[in-house]
Amino acid sequence: MISDIINYIYPRNIKCIICKNPISKNNSYSLCKDCFNKLNFINKGCLICGKPLTDFYKNDICLNCETNEYVFTRALSCIEYDDNIHKLIYSLKYGAKTYLSYNIAEIMNDKLQYENINVDYIIPVPLHKKRLRKRGYNQSLLIANQLSKINKKEVLDIVVRSKNTDFLSKLSKKERIKKLQNVFTLSKNENRIYKKDLLIVDDIFTTGTTTNEISKNLLNSGASKIYVITFATGKNIY
Ligand SMILES: [Zn+2]
Ligand SMILES: [Zn+2]
Repeated sequence: MISDIINYIYPRNIKCIICKNPISKNNSYSLCKDCFNKLNFINKGCLICGKPLTDFYKNDICLNCETNEYVFTRALSCIEYDDNIHKLIYSLKYGAKTYLSYNIAEIMNDKLQYENINVDYIIPVPLHKKRLRKRGYNQSLLIANQLSKINKKEVLDIVVRSKNTDFLSKLSKKERIKKLQNVFTLSKNENRIYKKDLLIVDDIFTTGTTTNEISKNLLNSGASKIYVITFATGKNIY
Protein backbone atom coordinates (compact mmCIF):
# COMPACT_ATOMS: atom_id res chain seq x y z
CA MET A 1 0.00 0.00 0.00
CA ILE A 2 1.23 3.46 -0.85
CA SER A 3 0.70 4.79 2.69
CA ASP A 4 2.96 2.03 4.05
CA ILE A 5 5.75 3.12 1.73
CA ILE A 6 5.35 6.73 2.76
CA ASN A 7 5.33 5.80 6.43
CA TYR A 8 8.58 3.99 5.84
CA ILE A 9 10.12 7.05 4.21
CA TYR A 10 8.67 9.34 6.87
CA PRO A 11 9.38 7.82 10.28
CA ARG A 12 6.85 8.72 12.94
CA ASN A 13 7.36 10.93 15.98
CA ILE A 14 10.39 12.89 14.87
CA LYS A 15 8.75 16.18 13.96
CA CYS A 16 5.48 17.75 15.14
CA ILE A 17 2.88 17.26 12.40
CA ILE A 18 1.73 20.88 12.79
CA CYS A 19 4.74 23.13 13.50
CA LYS A 20 7.45 20.70 12.29
CA ASN A 21 9.59 21.25 15.40
CA PRO A 22 11.44 18.19 16.69
CA ILE A 23 9.54 16.16 19.29
CA SER A 24 10.23 13.35 21.70
CA LYS A 25 9.37 9.85 20.53
CA ASN A 26 6.83 9.45 23.32
CA ASN A 27 4.62 12.38 22.37
CA SER A 28 1.01 11.50 21.55
CA TYR A 29 -0.16 11.77 17.94
CA SER A 30 3.20 13.19 16.74
CA LEU A 31 2.37 16.59 18.20
CA CYS A 32 4.62 18.90 20.21
CA LYS A 33 3.24 19.98 23.59
CA ASP A 34 2.44 23.50 22.39
CA CYS A 35 0.45 22.35 19.38
CA PHE A 36 -1.25 19.64 21.41
CA ASN A 37 -2.39 22.19 23.99
CA LYS A 38 -3.68 24.55 21.31
CA LEU A 39 -5.99 21.95 19.78
CA ASN A 40 -9.58 22.02 20.99
CA PHE A 41 -10.39 18.37 21.58
CA ILE A 42 -14.15 18.02 21.87
CA ASN A 43 -15.00 16.74 25.34
CA LYS A 44 -18.64 17.69 25.36
CA GLY A 45 -20.26 17.18 21.98
CA CYS A 46 -23.91 16.97 20.95
CA LEU A 47 -25.04 13.36 21.43
CA ILE A 48 -26.40 13.28 17.87
CA CYS A 49 -24.21 15.42 15.59
CA GLY A 50 -21.07 15.59 17.74
CA LYS A 51 -20.63 19.35 17.39
CA PRO A 52 -19.10 21.01 20.46
CA LEU A 53 -21.43 22.23 23.18
CA THR A 54 -20.36 24.94 25.57
CA ASP A 55 -19.94 23.88 29.19
CA PHE A 56 -22.91 25.90 30.38
CA TYR A 57 -25.25 24.44 27.75
CA LYS A 58 -27.64 22.25 29.76
CA ASN A 59 -28.97 19.85 27.09
CA ASP A 60 -27.06 16.90 25.67
CA ILE A 61 -28.40 17.69 22.22
CA CYS A 62 -27.74 20.89 20.28
CA LEU A 63 -30.53 23.15 19.06
CA ASN A 64 -30.06 21.98 15.47
CA CYS A 65 -30.53 18.34 16.38
CA GLU A 66 -33.75 18.97 18.27
CA THR A 67 -35.39 19.37 14.88
CA ASN A 68 -33.04 17.42 12.62
CA GLU A 69 -33.63 14.46 10.40
CA TYR A 70 -30.38 12.52 10.78
CA VAL A 71 -30.82 8.78 10.35
CA PHE A 72 -27.47 7.80 11.89
CA THR A 73 -27.44 6.97 15.60
CA ARG A 74 -24.61 9.26 16.52
CA ALA A 75 -21.82 11.28 14.96
CA LEU A 76 -18.58 11.98 16.82
CA SER A 77 -15.86 14.46 16.00
CA CYS A 78 -12.48 14.58 17.68
CA ILE A 79 -11.40 18.19 17.38
CA GLU A 80 -12.85 21.63 16.70
CA TYR A 81 -12.00 22.96 13.27
CA ASP A 82 -9.46 25.81 13.32
CA ASP A 83 -6.49 27.08 11.27
CA ASN A 84 -4.13 24.31 12.39
CA ILE A 85 -6.67 21.61 11.62
CA HIS A 86 -7.41 23.25 8.29
CA LYS A 87 -3.71 23.05 7.41
CA LEU A 88 -3.46 19.42 8.53
CA ILE A 89 -6.47 18.31 6.52
CA TYR A 90 -5.36 20.37 3.54
CA SER A 91 -1.94 18.74 3.49
CA LEU A 92 -3.51 15.29 3.82
CA LYS A 93 -5.95 15.93 0.97
CA TYR A 94 -3.99 18.07 -1.44
CA GLY A 95 -0.39 17.92 -0.26
CA ALA A 96 -0.01 14.13 -0.51
CA LYS A 97 0.97 13.93 3.18
CA THR A 98 -0.78 10.59 3.47
CA TYR A 99 1.17 9.63 6.61
CA LEU A 100 -1.12 12.06 8.51
CA SER A 101 -3.90 9.49 8.14
CA TYR A 102 -2.13 7.41 10.81
CA ASN A 103 -2.14 10.21 13.41
CA ILE A 104 -5.75 11.06 12.60
CA ALA A 105 -6.75 7.41 13.00
CA GLU A 106 -4.94 7.25 16.36
CA ILE A 107 -6.92 10.24 17.62
CA MET A 108 -10.17 8.75 16.28
CA ASN A 109 -9.51 5.42 17.94
CA ASP A 110 -8.96 7.09 21.32
CA LYS A 111 -12.20 9.04 20.87
CA LEU A 112 -14.16 5.88 20.01
CA GLN A 113 -12.77 4.08 23.04
CA TYR A 114 -13.52 7.03 25.29
CA GLU A 115 -17.12 7.12 24.05
CA ASN A 116 -17.46 3.31 24.19
CA ILE A 117 -18.46 2.94 20.54
CA ASN A 118 -18.13 -0.58 19.16
CA VAL A 119 -18.90 -1.47 15.56
CA ASP A 120 -18.64 -4.43 13.20
CA TYR A 121 -17.30 -2.69 10.10
CA ILE A 122 -15.69 0.58 8.99
CA ILE A 123 -17.13 2.38 5.94
CA PRO A 124 -15.09 5.15 4.28
CA VAL A 125 -16.84 8.07 2.56
CA PRO A 126 -16.09 7.60 -1.15
CA LEU A 127 -14.73 10.07 -3.68
CA HIS A 128 -16.10 10.21 -7.20
CA LYS A 129 -13.82 8.26 -9.55
CA LYS A 130 -12.85 11.42 -11.45
CA ARG A 131 -11.67 13.12 -8.27
CA LEU A 132 -9.98 9.92 -7.12
CA ARG A 133 -8.02 9.81 -10.37
CA LYS A 134 -6.97 13.44 -9.93
CA ARG A 135 -5.95 13.12 -6.28
CA GLY A 136 -4.60 9.59 -6.50
CA TYR A 137 -6.09 8.47 -3.20
CA ASN A 138 -9.18 8.83 -1.04
CA GLN A 139 -8.19 10.38 2.29
CA SER A 140 -11.20 8.82 4.06
CA LEU A 141 -10.15 5.36 2.89
CA LEU A 142 -6.58 6.01 4.08
CA ILE A 143 -7.85 7.01 7.52
CA ALA A 144 -10.26 4.02 7.57
CA ASN A 145 -7.41 1.63 6.72
CA GLN A 146 -5.19 3.04 9.46
CA LEU A 147 -8.05 2.86 11.96
CA SER A 148 -8.64 -0.75 10.93
CA LYS A 149 -5.02 -1.59 11.68
CA ILE A 150 -5.46 -0.18 15.18
CA ASN A 151 -8.91 -1.52 16.12
CA LYS A 152 -8.87 -4.66 13.92
CA LYS A 153 -12.28 -3.95 12.37
CA GLU A 154 -12.60 -4.69 8.68
CA VAL A 155 -13.00 -1.85 6.16
CA LEU A 156 -15.82 -2.29 3.65
CA ASP A 157 -15.23 0.14 0.79
CA ILE A 158 -18.71 -0.49 -0.59
CA VAL A 159 -20.21 2.97 -1.04
CA VAL A 160 -19.95 4.48 -4.52
CA ARG A 161 -20.31 8.15 -5.35
CA SER A 162 -22.02 7.92 -8.70
CA LYS A 163 -22.23 11.66 -9.39
CA ASN A 164 -19.44 14.21 -9.12
CA THR A 165 -20.66 16.93 -6.78
CA ASP A 166 -18.18 19.77 -6.91
CA PHE A 167 -18.20 22.88 -4.72
CA LEU A 168 -20.35 21.35 -2.02
CA SER A 169 -18.61 23.47 0.59
CA LYS A 170 -20.15 26.64 -0.82
CA LEU A 171 -23.71 25.36 -0.58
CA SER A 172 -26.25 25.73 2.20
CA LYS A 173 -27.60 22.66 3.98
CA LYS A 174 -30.79 22.73 1.90
CA GLU A 175 -28.87 22.95 -1.36
CA ARG A 176 -26.55 20.13 -0.25
CA ILE A 177 -29.45 17.83 0.54
CA LYS A 178 -30.89 18.46 -2.93
CA LYS A 179 -27.54 17.95 -4.64
CA LEU A 180 -26.70 14.77 -2.76
CA GLN A 181 -29.97 12.99 -3.42
CA ASN A 182 -29.31 9.67 -5.17
CA VAL A 183 -25.59 10.40 -5.37
CA PHE A 184 -24.55 7.33 -3.38
CA THR A 185 -25.11 3.68 -4.16
CA LEU A 186 -23.66 0.47 -2.74
CA SER A 187 -21.11 -1.24 -4.97
CA LYS A 188 -22.72 -4.64 -4.76
CA ASN A 189 -25.38 -6.37 -2.79
CA GLU A 190 -23.41 -6.28 0.42
CA ASN A 191 -25.14 -8.77 2.69
CA ARG A 192 -22.29 -8.55 5.15
CA ILE A 193 -23.73 -5.31 6.58
CA TYR A 194 -27.10 -6.94 7.35
CA LYS A 195 -27.93 -6.37 11.03
CA LYS A 196 -24.41 -5.02 11.63
CA ASP A 197 -23.29 -1.82 13.34
CA LEU A 198 -21.25 0.35 11.02
CA LEU A 199 -18.87 3.26 11.42
CA ILE A 200 -18.66 5.82 8.62
CA VAL A 201 -15.26 7.56 8.53
CA ASP A 202 -14.58 10.99 7.07
CA ASP A 203 -12.20 13.91 7.63
CA ILE A 204 -14.69 16.72 8.32
CA PHE A 205 -18.28 16.93 9.53
CA THR A 206 -19.88 20.08 8.16
CA THR A 207 -23.67 19.83 7.87
CA GLY A 208 -23.70 16.03 8.09
CA THR A 209 -25.55 15.80 4.78
CA THR A 210 -23.02 13.48 3.12
CA THR A 211 -22.82 11.01 5.99
CA ASN A 212 -26.58 11.13 6.46
CA GLU A 213 -27.20 10.27 2.80
CA ILE A 214 -24.74 7.37 3.03
CA SER A 215 -26.43 6.22 6.24
CA LYS A 216 -29.77 6.05 4.43
CA ASN A 217 -28.25 3.70 1.82
CA LEU A 218 -26.68 1.48 4.46
CA LEU A 219 -29.88 1.30 6.52
CA ASN A 220 -31.91 0.50 3.41
CA SER A 221 -29.60 -2.46 2.88
CA GLY A 222 -30.31 -3.78 6.35
CA ALA A 223 -27.58 -2.27 8.53
CA SER A 224 -28.48 -2.04 12.20
CA LYS A 225 -26.88 1.10 13.67
CA ILE A 226 -24.76 3.70 11.96
CA TYR A 227 -22.12 5.71 13.76
CA VAL A 228 -20.05 8.43 12.17
CA ILE A 229 -16.56 9.53 13.17
CA THR A 230 -14.85 12.55 11.70
CA PHE A 231 -11.58 14.16 12.62
CA ALA A 232 -12.91 17.70 12.90
CA THR A 233 -16.09 19.74 13.01
CA GLY A 234 -16.99 23.40 13.35
CA LYS A 235 -19.18 24.98 15.98
CA ASN A 236 -22.88 25.27 15.32
CA ILE A 237 -23.84 28.65 14.00
CA TYR A 238 -27.23 29.89 15.14
ZN1 LIG B 1 4.02 21.64 17.12
ZN1 LIG C 1 -26.35 18.28 17.31
